[in-house]
Amino acid sequence: MRLLLIEDDDRIAGPLTEGLGRYGFTVDHVRTGAAGLADAEAAPDLVLLDLGLPDMDGLDVCRSLRARSAVPIIMITARGEEADRVVGLELGADDYLAKPFGVRELIARIRAVTRRAGAPAYDPTGPVEAPEMPPPTSGAQTWGPLTVNRRTREVHLDGRPVALTPREFDLLAHLAEDPGTVCSRQQIMDTVWDPHFFGPTKTLDAHIAALRRKLGDPGWITTARGVGFRLTVPGDRTASEAAG
Ligand code: CA
Repeated sequence: MRLLLIEDDDRIAGPLTEGLGRYGFTVDHVRTGAAGLADAEAAPDLVLLDLGLPDMDGLDVCRSLRARSAVPIIMITARGEEADRVVGLELGADDYLAKPFGVRELIARIRAVTRRAGAPAYDPTGPVEAPEMPPPTSGAQTWGPLTVNRRTREVHLDGRPVALTPREFDLLAHLAEDPGTVCSRQQIMDTVWDPHFFGPTKTLDAHIAALRRKLGDPGWITTARGVGFRLTVPGDRTASEAAG
């Protein structure tokens, strides 16, 4: 799958291109709206469009892209661009991601958008070095009373839905990829937040606290002091894993 990334900030484009490459995506990266529109002639499978571009308003790029093709467009927006997101969606963008975001979150959006657009599904069983990505056909995973469904991004506890924010879901899904194994803080920040996340990671603790609260038992997430966190089934409930 070939992505066109229109983003002038190399600090974002660099890690993104590298991260997406690890998951088997080919990324054409351009830094201006004009270059993006020129490159779009080559019919990419999907466009990742930063709204804050040096030469053109990203919304105008969005409008021009949509005028000439049905290519799925995911906008990349900064905080404070809520109004732009709404306009962008009205102009025909398919989705948006607010910075900062992780590669995993982006891939989930890419999958959702391409599925909606009826594009050929991204096939991770192809020549892709992505051992940590579950195939899109794998359904819910269950640990004791907890079920995490990556496909529908739904979480159930004892059969009842648990309402999580997108970030909380990504965090839980990340911990749930290898339950019992400690995920380091940096690893979590890299995948759930932004690759090469710099700065204080207090937000991680806040999200862990929110998850514990929503799961109704702090025992679901164990702190490995000074290292990170791991998912554990509280009490004596037997963990099981199932696909389906
Ligand atoms: Ca920018």
